[in-house]
Amino acid sequence: MMNQAIAKWYDENQEEIMALSKKIWDASELAMEEFESCRLTAEFMEKHGFKVTTYHCCDSTKRPNTVIAEWGSGKPVIGFIGEYDSLPGIGQEVKPYRAPTGGNGQGCGHSLMAPSCGSAAAALKAAMEAEGLKGTVKFFACPAEETVEGKMHMVRDGVFEGLDCCLAWHPQGHGLKIREFIQNSLTNMKVEFFGTSAHAAVAPEKGRSALDACELMNVGVNYLREHCEPTTRIHYSYLSAGEKPNVIPSYAALHYFVRTKDLKSNYETFQRVSKCAEGAAIMTETECKISVNAMVSGCMQISGFNQFFYESAAKVPPLTYTEEDMEFARELFKSIHEREPKEGEEIISTELIAPTHNHVNAPSSTDVGYVTRLAPTSRMVGLGMITGTPMHSWGSVAAAGHPIGLKSAVYAGKCQAQCGYDIVKNPEVIRPWRQDLDRQLKEEGEVKIIFPERIN
Ligand SMILES: [Zn+2]
Repeated sequence: MMNQAIAKWYDENQEEIMALSKKIWDASELAMEEFESCRLTAEFMEKHGFKVTTYHCCDSTKRPNTVIAEWGSGKPVIGFIGEYDSLPGIGQEVKPYRAPTGGNGQGCGHSLMAPSCGSAAAALKAAMEAEGLKGTVKFFACPAEETVEGKMHMVRDGVFEGLDCCLAWHPQGHGLKIREFIQNSLTNMKVEFFGTSAHAAVAPEKGRSALDACELMNVGVNYLREHCEPTTRIHYSYLSAGEKPNVIPSYAALHYFVRTKDLKSNYETFQRVSKCAEGAAIMTETECKISVNAMVSGCMQISGFNQFFYESAAKVPPLTYTEEDMEFARELFKSIHEREPKEGEEIISTELIAPTHNHVNAPSSTDVGYVTRLAPTSRMVGLGMITGTPMHSWGSVAAAGHPIGLKSAVYAGKCQAQCGYDIVKNPEVIRPWRQDLDRQLKEEGEVKIIFPERIN
């Protein structure tokens, strides 16, 4: 049965959690610019009795975008992780049809995460106070997940040190389940070339083109693909490619994502991609500068913890929607899928799904990955969106701003809080999870990683 202090805390605070989610949705701030989202979340955690620290994880000349909230003392130390960054170009009204507003949108539903995971920390605190239980509760509102880098700045700063275990939740258009994927490791890197500009027609022999260097590097990488493992994914875009055709560009830059199945192969592939850059610089007589924005690992899976989280969540009464919510959901389903739902077809799931303990690889990546190496971590994914909604689309933005999304944040918060409570009541459950993590890290052997640098 669900802990009664947690249930009571949510009865008293659910409107506030939904209001906070909607305010973060309204703000829809991009990665590294989550200033208002940070301020609102910090205010919420402070109000609920946490000691709160905020800072900008990358550039101290900017307003804070990161929240670290802490309550209690001693062991176990339980962490909850939330995010709040949005995506550019998919702004959308809370309407069950495509209604673009321009600008940013919460297409990954991150506006629900910080309020949900932060509320779990606050509700766990209430339950611990009610019974006089010992332990430390921490909540981290993490910026810049969409650019796969925010948490690596926080890791570099030692923010996650000392955690005994860590919980998280992410919305998605299916039932609630444990995220059992081992996601790809990823290097997020910038390559800049510096050449010499000249008139492209009158004095081309005087110019050394930074753009040529970019193009030759890309050709090199495109040949390199054939000699990578089939699971490797390398993609790039141009950050700068010159201005006018008649000026040989002295500066050009590329943004690369290099994804591989594990951290070891990622570091090796990063080095091979770097050689393509260096080769291109030699060919074009330009200089190249390689900067790692972040290097992230895949996610360690702790079966025992995953099962425990699921069993705790099963104690929470199911998520329910009103007839009004369901009417909106049906209309949104029709707009997203451009058809009527079939007889008996699921519109939106409120189901809780048991873990499979089958840890398959997935091509995507997340900056949560490295946190899963520091402490046993279990993450749930699902709810808050129409079944089958493509992530990073207008349909997910619409649902995240509607009670469909807002209520899922409350329910997922309860599941996390209940799991935290079950751990605090019986903290020795953590020991085999830690042993499992240590065994996996040992099997992997030594790995190299480059941490992102602070700008200021
Ligand atoms: Zn996301």
